[in-house]
Amino acid sequence: MSQVQVTDEIREYLMKPSFDNWQWDDSEMMVLIRQMYIDLGFVSTFNIEMGVLHRWLYEIYRHYNNVPFHNFKHCFMVTQMMYGLICLIGLQNIFEPIDLLILVTAAVCHDLDHPGYNNAYQKINFGASVFGGDGGKRCILATDMAKHSEILSNFKDIISTFDPKNKEHKTITREILMKVSDISNEARPMEVSTQWVDCLLEEFFSQLSLLILKASDVSNEARPMEVADMWVECLFEEYFHQLDLILIKTADISNEVRPMEVAEPWLECLLEEYFIQDDIIVPVKQALQYYTDMQNALEEEKKRQKTNNPKTSH
Ligand SMILES: [Zn+2]
Repeated sequence: MSQVQVTDEIREYLMKPSFDNWQWDDSEMMVLIRQMYIDLGFVSTFNIEMGVLHRWLYEIYRHYNNVPFHNFKHCFMVTQMMYGLICLIGLQNIFEPIDLLILVTAAVCHDLDHPGYNNAYQKINFGASVFGGDGGKRCILATDMAKHSEILSNFKDIISTFDPKNKEHKTITREILMKVSDISNEARPMEVSTQWVDCLLEEFFSQLSLLILKASDVSNEARPMEVADMWVECLFEEYFHQLDLILIKTADISNEVRPMEVAEPWLECLLEEYFIQDDIIVPVKQALQYYTDMQNALEEEKKRQKTNNPKTSH
C-alpha cells in the first residue's frame, strides 16, 4: 500500500463531490478508502484490525478487472461519492453505524470482477455471494439498471411519510444512495466526468469489436462485413438507448432538487443540503446539456446517413 500521508486538507477534500481521481494512483486510492473506514469510526466501532483491513482492501483491488470503465478507479469513485454523501448530509445522525458500514462496503464491492460488458454481468449471483446480509445484497443489486424504475418509484412513495426507524424506508434510502453514487460521474466537474465518459465509450467500443469478431467467426458463408454491419446497428441502437437512460437518470436526479416535492425535514437535508450545492447542481446541468447536444448531433447524423444511404433505411 502507498505511504502517502493523509493530511487534514486531504481528508477534507475527500468528502467533496468535486474530488478528482485522476490525480491519484490505485495504491493511493486504497489508502484513501482505508481513511474513510477510520474517519467514519468503522475501525474503532467494529474493532477492525488494520492488518485485516489492508488484506481485505488488497483482495478488493485484485478482484477488479483491468477494463476501461468498471475498474478499481470506478469502485473508488462510487465509494468516495457515498462517503461524501454521508458526511455532507450528516447521515451519521440518522443511520446506525452498521447502516453506514453496509453502504460504504456495498459501494466498495458493487462491481467486483465486472468483465466490462454491460449485458454479461450478473449482479444477482454476485451480490448474493459477497454479502450474507440482506441489506448489503439489496444495496449492490440496486445498481443494476434493470431495477432503475422500481427503485425510483419505491423511493418516491416513501418521501412524504419517511420514518428513519422504519426498516424498509431505511433500506429503500440505502438503495437510492447506492444508485446516486454509482451514476454520480455526471454530477462531478466536467474535467473529471468527461474522462469517465471516454472510459465508458472505450469499454463499449471494445465490446463492439468483440462482437464483430464473433459475428465474423460464425459467418463462414455469409459476407462478414454485412453481418458485422448488422451488429454495429444493433449495438448503436443499444448505445443510444443507454444514452437515453443517462439522460433520464440525470433528469431524475435534478427533479429531486425541487424542495416543493420534499416533505420530511430530514429529506430536505438529503436533497437540499446536497443537491443545491454549486458543486453538484452546476455540473449536473452542464452534463445534461452536454448529453442533450451530443444526442441531438447523433440523431442528426443518423438522419443524414439514412437519406444518403438507402441500404440502412430498410
Ligand atoms: Zn458501478
